Order: sequence, then structure tokens, then C-alpha cells
Amino acid sequence: MTETTSPVPLTLASPVDQVFPVLTPAQIARLAAHGHVRQVQRGEVLAEAGEQLARFFVVTAGQVELVRPSGVTEALVAVLRPGQFTGEVTMLSGRRRLVRIRAGEAGAVIEVERQHLLALVQTDSELSEIFMRAFILRRVELIAHGFGDVVLVGSNYSPGTLRVKEFLTRNGHPFASIDLDRDPDVQALLDRFQVTVDDVPVVICRGVVVLRNPTNGQIADCLGFNEAIDQTRVRDVVIIGAGPSGLSAAVYSASEGLDVLVLEANAPGGQAGSSSKIENYLGFPTGISGQELAARAYTQAQKFGAQLLIAKRVTRLACDRQPYAIEIDHGPHVPARAVIIATGAEYRRLSLEHLSQFEGAGVYYGATFVEAQVCAGEEVIVVGGGNSAGQAAVFLAHTASRVHILVRSGGLSASMSRYLIRRIEETPAIVVRPYTTITALDGGDHLDRVHWRDHQAGTSATHAIRHVFAMTGAVPNTRWLEGCVALDAQGFIKTGPDLSPEDLAAARWPLTRAPHLLETSLPGVFAVGDVRGGNIKRVASAVGEGSIAVAFVHQVLRE
Ligand SMILES: Cc1cc2nc3c(=O)[nH]c(=O)nc-3n(C[C@H](O)[C@H](O)[C@H](O)COP(=O)(O)OP(=O)(O)OC[C@H]3O[C@@H](n4cnc5c(N)ncnc54)[C@H](O)[C@@H]3O)c2cc1C
Repeated sequence: MTETTSPVPLTLASPVDQVFPVLTPAQIARLAAHGHVRQVQRGEVLAEAGEQLARFFVVTAGQVELVRPSGVTEALVAVLRPGQFTGEVTMLSGRRRLVRIRAGEAGAVIEVERQHLLALVQTDSELSEIFMRAFILRRVELIAHGFGDVVLVGSNYSPGTLRVKEFLTRNGHPFASIDLDRDPDVQALLDRFQVTVDDVPVVICRGVVVLRNPTNGQIADCLGFNEAIDQTRVRDVVIIGAGPSGLSAAVYSASEGLDVLVLEANAPGGQAGSSSKIENYLGFPTGISGQELAARAYTQAQKFGAQLLIAKRVTRLACDRQPYAIEIDHGPHVPARAVIIATGAEYRRLSLEHLSQFEGAGVYYGATFVEAQVCAGEEVIVVGGGNSAGQAAVFLAHTASRVHILVRSGGLSASMSRYLIRRIEETPAIVVRPYTTITALDGGDHLDRVHWRDHQAGTSATHAIRHVFAMTGAVPNTRWLEGCVALDAQGFIKTGPDLSPEDLAAARWPLTRAPHLLETSLPGVFAVGDVRGGNIKRVASAVGEGSIAVAFVHQVLRE
């Protein structure tokens, strides 16, 4: 029962007994009560890669192999022995399996339906901890070894390639990638199949579907990200946006028994997902990357039963009916008894000619590992004097040869936290350029040159710099609300005590009670995080507001 030889033919980043733990007889007995014993023959396939994940197996006798099919060949991912179990994070989302599960030897398994396993992890804290840790660590290993069901063929100079890399990374989906700039043979192959520059990146999805420069929505559809989710049921609460505030609302509402659906236009994490290192979030003294924080929150929300629709943009709120209806991509309507708006804000675009030509091809709005790799060894510009600009500069200074911070004002002290200013002062690769703004961008397919002006010295100069990070404040994502709720002069949503009697009269507030804290001018519709007027733009406040709103959702549902 406790054989300890490594079950994997690979080097693991985490201890093998955490990635592939062996359950005790008592733990197996608790699981067995939720499933049934199945005898298996050598070579028998228990579940196929690519099928929607519906069952979970614990080996009780013999051996079970996890293999990754690849064309006519296959790669062995792991061998499970008695006491070990199948599954990784797709077990929570119900997405398609990444591996084939096959009996390596005759034996027996306990087969448990996914729904029963999900119910068990909510009540059995010991098993929940073992499964969660193993599922997450396995996903980390799959990503590290590129054992996904996606091959991305692209170029680091193409904005589409960066977008797809970021989308897959932020969804925690493993993929292998081929860089056309380093692999001329693949470029020749693409030429032969008349794949043009506009078709790049090419995404080979589940080994069968070839997508040319797909949208994030097409990739999500091909990988079946949203297949297991019922979009027609009336939900207790629909949360729009899966940044820190939306994910927090999802964790609290699902853990308190509400039927919750989250709608996310892109990938979980929001602005925080583009932060290289968050150092001021409680409980992480050495900092945590926004992506890691978001990935943990996403898994936590799913563990409690929240469902997330990925790459689905909300285009309208039908607020003239009850239940409310939320329109997705001008298509289907999701009905909801209560709504939490958590759509956050987006970084301001620089007001420069030809900007869109270079977005993703030299101009970026986030500084993560993906962008840092692209500009390794080169000079970069960070525009902005706030904390996000400071963080980006410090992070990029690890890989870039020089980082120029361009600020319109006389310095950083008014707008940036002291700890970041100190870090910048201590980093020789960073140069702060006060009173300086970019005046023009130049290049072909990619940004090649930047013109900037020092307004104090009255000088202009041109620099062969190919990467600009724009970190200059944010505008709220509220355009889609089309007058449903009261907004302030900057377009942020007014809530609770900020709503004046005139606002409520204009909105025809129908109740005798005043709006709850975080409730908008529409009863049962709440706004949390950066999208809300008066919010302090921090991860901690977004998370706090997400949890507070849920307390009021309960009250509204009882009304
Ligand atoms: C680079 C950077 C670094 C930062 N560093 C820190 C830090 O160190 N510490 C700190 O406390 N704060 C930091 N912040 C601020 C922090 O990230 C934000 O305050 C926080 O992310 C706000 O969370 P939110 O959920 O309200 O909104 P957001 O994070 O903006 O998330 C909103 C989500 O809604 C989705 N969405 C938008 N419109 C729609 C729609 N129509 N339909 C469906 N979905 C939609 C978006 O795709 C997004 O995922 C940083 C921000 C940035 C950009």
C-alpha cells in the first residue's frame, strides 16, 4: 500500500509525496462510501483525454497510468500505485481531461462521480486539503513541462502571440509553444500551408483543431472552458468581472451556499493579474505575483462551487425586469436575482499617434513574466509615477538592461509609496526622468524608436527603445451599463451613502429602505472594487468589498 518509488518519469518541482500522496486506509474508506469499486484489466482505458471530466479514481490494487496522447505516440506523465488518485484542477471546473487514464496492470479502483467528490471536499477538510494541494501542484507541473492540449505557434514580435500566451497563462492552462523566430523550419512549413503573417499565432487545440489568430473566446470554446456551465438557470447572484473583488465575492457567496456564476471578459485576475509582485497584501510578507494570487482565488471559488464563464464579455444589463438579465457578447441572457458589478478599471491609453499599431508590439499595459522575457537585455520605458509604474520598473530592472521611468511631474514622491521609491533609488538600472513625456512612436511591425521631450530643459530626443510600459491611471469599465445605475462625473458607480436623494429620485428607487452599503441605485445590484466611486484602488479593499457585498446580497434575497 505504501510503495514510495517516484510515480513520474520527470523531475518535479515539489515533493513527490505532495504531488502524488498516498491515502491512508481510513481515508480510502471515507472515499469508498461515495463511489464504487471497479475491477480493471491491463490496458483498459478508464477515461480518455479530451473528454469532459466526470469521474475520479483511487487505485486500490495494480497500477494506473496517466498518459498524454500526442498524435500516434503518447507520453507517460505518471504511474499511480495503490492509495494514489487521479485528477488535477480540471476536477473542480469540470473541463476536459488533459490526460488519458489507463490501467497499467490488472487491479481495482474506486470510481467516484465528480459531483460526489466536490460535495466531499466541502465537508471533509482533511481530504480537501490533500486533494487541493495535489491538484494545484499537478497543474503547476503540467504547465512547467508544457504537458497541455495546446500548441501555440507564434512570434514574440506579434501582439496576437503575446495575447494568447497571456490568456492561457492567466487561465492556468498548460501549453507548448514554438517560436517562429527561432525555428525557421516551422516558418517554412507554415509558408507551405499559406499561413500568412495575419494568421499568426496559429493555435493547435486538443491536437485536432487548427485556429488561425483566434480570439480568446474561440480558444476558450475550443478548449471547452465553459462547456460544463448552465447559462440559463436563474442564479442567486451573478458577478460580473473576475478581478480580486469579483473572485472574493465568488468565494464568499459560494461558501455561504448561494448559487453563483461569474462572468469574465478575459481571464481571472483583472488588473492584479498584470502585477508582477504585490507586496502589500496581508499575509504575504515576501510578496505574491498577481497571477498566483488570482489562480489561488479562482481555485478556492471553484472548490466552494462557484462557476466561472471565461472570455465572455457582458454587453448589457437588462435592468427593467426581475430577475435581472445579463447579456453576454450581445448573445444569451443570464438571469439573476442579485448582481455584483466588479468590472474594475482599465489602464489609460497614451494619447499618441499610431499607438494602436504598437499595442502588444512594443507598447504594453502590464509587466508580467511574459513581457519581461520579451524585453530581456533591452532598454525599456515605463510611463507613470504611481505604484503600478514603480512596481513594473523594479520588476523589469531584473531583466532589462535599463529602465527609464518617464513622469510628467517633478518626481515620484507625491504619487508612489515610499518603499517603492527607495527600491528605485537603490536600483542602478533605473533612471527617473521627471517633466518628461513621450511625443511620438516610430517603427514598422514593432516599435523601434521613441521620441520624448524634457519639458523643464526644453529638449527633445529620439531613442532606439523598443518597449514602452504605459502605467498612467485607469478609467472605469462602466460603458456597458447604459444608464442602468447612477455614475459619478468620472464614470465610476455610486453606491450606498454616496447616492444623493436626487440620484435616487432620478433612478426611481422603489423601496422604503435606503440603499445598502455598496448597493447601487438599482435594488439588488451592487458595485465593488475599482469600478466603484470612492474605492481605494488596492487589492485588499477590492477583496474586502467583495466579501461585504455578499452579506447584503443575503438580505436582498430575503426581501
Ligand atoms: C500593474 C498593477 C499593479 C498593481 N499593484 C498593486 C499592489 O501591489 N497592491 C495593491 O493593493 N494593488 C495593486 N494594484 C491595484 C489592484 O490591482 C486593483 O485595485 C484591483 O485589481 C482591483 O480589483 P477589481 O476586482 O475591482 O478590478 P480589476 O482588477 O480591474 O478586475 C476587473 C475584471 O472585470 C473584467 N471585466 C471588465 N469589464 C467586463 C465586462 N463587461 N464583462 C465581463 N468582465 C469584465 C476584467 O476583464 C477584469 O478581469 C495594481 C494594479 C496594476 C494594474
